[in-house]
Parts: sequence; C-alpha cells; structure tokens
Amino acid sequence: MKAHNIMEDIVEKYLKEMILADKTVCKCESCYDKMIAEVLSNIPAKYVTSETGAIYAVIEQVRVEQSSVILKELVKIMKNLKPHSKT
Ligand SMILES: [Zn+2]
Repeated sequence: MKAHNIMEDIVEKYLKEMILADKTVCKCESCYDKMIAEVLSNIPAKYVTSETGAIYAVIEQVRVEQSSVILKELVKIMKNLKPHSKT
C-alpha cells in the first residue's frame, strides 16, 4: 500500500483559505506550489496508508492537534514570499 502524507491535505486546505483571505499574496500556481513545499518541509510528515480505513478521522485528529504549528508556518511563509516579477 502506498503511503500518503496527510499533512499535504491539511496544509492545502489551510493555505487555500488563507490565500483567499489575503489579497497581497500571489495566487499563481508556482507560488502556491512553492508555499506548500516550504510548509511541508518545515513540519513533521504524518503518513498513513489507504488501508487506514478511518483516514478522514485521522486527518481531522491531526488537523486539530497540529493546527497552531501549521498556521504559524503558513503565516511565516506567506510573509516571506517574494512577489515574482510578471513578464
Ligand atoms: Zn506567483
């Protein structure tokens, strides 16, 4: 069974909400991917397999446990993101 890092799901969900709320953040795909990659590098991964029947329950539990850490990282990264020049 292939392992999946559920932090990806959680971080993407939070980032999407935060991007919508913040008009100063670039919303292009490359900046989005960059932010996701950076947050995931800074927080511990949490792997599950699809055999884990209650995957959504696990996601929800980890989301609640880790939300302050994830949000702190997201805020930091969004602040540091340099707007790239538009060509
Ligand atoms: Zn951009």
